[in-house]
Amino acid sequence: MTSGATLLLKPGKDRPLVHRHPWVYAAAVARIDGEPAPGALVAIRASDRRFLAWAAYSPGSLLRARCWSFDESDRIDEAWFRARVDAALARRASLRAVTDALRLVYGEADGLPGLVVDQYADFLVVQLQAAGVDGQRAVLLDALCRATGCANVFERSDAALREREGLAASGGVLRGQAPPPQVPIREHGVRFQVDVRRGHKTGFYIDQRDNRHALAELVKGWRQGRGRAPRVLNCFCYTGGFSLAAACAGAGVVDSVDSSADALALARSNATLNGLASAPDAPGAMLHWHCADVFEHLRALREQGARYDLIVLDPPKFATNQHQVERAARAYKDINLSALRLLDRGGWLLSFSCPGAIDVDCSRRSSPVRSSTPEPTATCAAVSLPAPIIRL
Ligand code: SAH
Repeated sequence: MTSGATLLLKPGKDRPLVHRHPWVYAAAVARIDGEPAPGALVAIRASDRRFLAWAAYSPGSLLRARCWSFDESDRIDEAWFRARVDAALARRASLRAVTDALRLVYGEADGLPGLVVDQYADFLVVQLQAAGVDGQRAVLLDALCRATGCANVFERSDAALREREGLAASGGVLRGQAPPPQVPIREHGVRFQVDVRRGHKTGFYIDQRDNRHALAELVKGWRQGRGRAPRVLNCFCYTGGFSLAAACAGAGVVDSVDSSADALALARSNATLNGLASAPDAPGAMLHWHCADVFEHLRALREQGARYDLIVLDPPKFATNQHQVERAARAYKDINLSALRLLDRGGWLLSFSCPGAIDVDCSRRSSPVRSSTPEPTATCAAVSLPAPIIRL
């Protein structure tokens, strides 16, 4: 499958690859021997012509090549791609006991730079964000369908990211049937409907699975330890992930807040799917959905004297670049302080943040995050970094 072409690096630019970082920046390339097509397999060599890696060539991207393998004896052919896909799936095999919504492939972390694959029951949702995986789409989709038994593949590549890679926009049904408006999935016994066409990310915050489960465990522990159901506040609830995890685990009142009416409509219908009633349709119901701005709502709750035992803050990215870090840090401080003021003694605050531009202590990252993948933490299997859980 090799184009026979070689990218020769400038002196001293071999270090990242020696340490197995899979990206080759355009500025590191001294010369290209040959005329590789976009996505073609090229050899990367140091300035002294030492072999460094096999990579996919991306002429339209600042990331001029993304490495497939650092082993010269590897043959990057169909069997090699199948093996990579199989290895990625094998890593997640144990998750199938608790869910049928899972990330199967996560780009660089699985040795397949630019490819993200999420499974929602019988549907695979793929993002192809680099010339290498784009050129191999048929081989990769064959391997994915064969290994999962799924016949339906829907593409939700990010048009802006593809443009940055010099790739034309692409999306929609690739194989099998079109996904219905809502694909039903289950996670730790809780059922959700996922809008894979229009929902955030590929439809659902899969990366928060363990944290939703941790909340459910806290609820159960609370009931056992204190003999009463905890009161839960879920801020930025989206389609009700944390809310339903808590409610199904036996929480008392669950108040949920989001500014998106569409997300709340799906959250309500997810509640119904789990046999849970929402107010005001059912007086005395445990679930309350508030369409509001969280910053304002937290202040209003404070004025009302509201108290909670468990509070979840899972906001969107408040900073997308270095310039927004200070303002974002103030916003994080604002919601966290407001939430702490609503927490009863012995309560728990579960506070999350996801911007790659901000470290866990809310400081600026020392070097800019230069990522062309959809998530700044592309090398992690999980996306949202849980900030410390604070116990009062
Ligand atoms: N916790 C969710 C994911 C949250 S995504 C889950 O596990 O599924 C972030 C959510 O914040 C989105 O639904 C968005 O509509 C909402 N949002 C963004 N800014 C907001 C604001 N100022 N007030 C209320 N909701 C907001």
